[in-house]
Amino acid sequence: MNILLIGGGGREHALAWKLRQSPELETLYCVPGNAGILAIAKPAAIDASDGEQVAGFCRAAGIDLVVIGPEAPLVAGLADELREAGIAVFGPSKAAAQLEASKSFTKAICDARGIPTAAYGYFRDRAAALAYVRERGAPLVVKADGLAAGKGVIMCETLAEAEGAIEACFSGAFGESGASVVIEEMLVGEECSFFALCDGTRALPLASAQDYKRAFDGDTGLNTGGMGAISPAPMMTPALSERVMREIIAPTLDEMRERGTPFQGVLYAGLMIGADGPKLIEYNVRFGDPECQVLMLRLKSDLALTLMAAAKGDLSRTKLEWTADAALTVVMAANGYPGDYRKGTAIVGLAEAGKVEGVTVFHAGTVSGSACETLAAGGRVLNVTAAGKDAGEARERAYRAIGLIDWPGGFCRRDIGWRSLNRKELQ
Ligand code: AMP
Repeated sequence: MNILLIGGGGREHALAWKLRQSPELETLYCVPGNAGILAIAKPAAIDASDGEQVAGFCRAAGIDLVVIGPEAPLVAGLADELREAGIAVFGPSKAAAQLEASKSFTKAICDARGIPTAAYGYFRDRAAALAYVRERGAPLVVKADGLAAGKGVIMCETLAEAEGAIEACFSGAFGESGASVVIEEMLVGEECSFFALCDGTRALPLASAQDYKRAFDGDTGLNTGGMGAISPAPMMTPALSERVMREIIAPTLDEMRERGTPFQGVLYAGLMIGADGPKLIEYNVRFGDPECQVLMLRLKSDLALTLMAAAKGDLSRTKLEWTADAALTVVMAANGYPGDYRKGTAIVGLAEAGKVEGVTVFHAGTVSGSACETLAAGGRVLNVTAAGKDAGEARERAYRAIGLIDWPGGFCRRDIGWRSLNRKELQ
């Protein structure tokens, strides 16, 4: 099998690493890739935002499957263009990617099937939105409707904050995506990420994960793309997983299929687990980053065959196996992230770090410099990922590896995994 992987972050390095373990794989290409990915995959010299170019490359290189990592090309319709050209693709159509691209779309799907989610109102009009929050009262969550790179969600503890957030959305703080807003009840409980592999009709649960979104220790600082993750999520039990599949994932797939826009790819549900069970906070239409990194470390099954089966619309014979290990990843980011940061700082010691038992270092934002140097090329730069018999062992290994990396230009959180470990200590 020849595979083209689209993307260049830690998620794609983890996918590339796992795809490379498949005996079915002949050649793996990647665009744009990063220093870590391009050490194990060939670069594809194409513009991935140009569907025709991608299709032309696939024909010339005899690509059997395209795997699309990030949401932007999915929302732009790359999967549709490739499928129309007769190429197998892992990833949803533009219409199905609305589950991530539009919060009001997802709310409508929830309404249609009675899927548990936060009570909400949807407004295109500032005055109506203000009247709603004045009637409801705080706390509330105000969300710009479209994709806003994780920035369009404002948690409002007071009515004044909610009014301010509405003003910000309607006065263009989030561009077009703030022209309409979803206002939600604030859910209480513990968050977790739930992943399901979908073929349009069927869904198979993947392992669960919990991510650490804030920039600094103790869950302080700004929200980021994710500073670390652990799998399994500490509160996830087989019974809860079964309930999420029955109450949330399966009805979503049914509704999407009935609308003529079946969902094929990874459905990533952000959940709040409260006293009355799981509720959907949001959907993403691809693997989480950095959750993918911990899932790939625990997956025993052949990823190439699995993704191909989903792409072909038939997961009926696919069975996924996972190690009983825990896996934990710590993101190393450039100093200053998620604000301004420098690029081009040198990183030393990656080979030594990768030799620590159970550890794999995935690259998230790197390029190769001269003389085999690795240089930082983004905000989130490395994902030091470790497997262990439990969360404690995985964490000890990951931080031991980090101790071997010499990168004055970067930082990481020192407390990734604390929710899992605290829970163990409490039990
Ligand atoms: P979203 O982009 O919708 O995932 O929101 C980003 C983050 O905001 C989530 O991961 C939650 O931590 C938080 N959040 C969003 N909606 C709610 C809600 N209704 N109740 C509580 N927290 C929320």
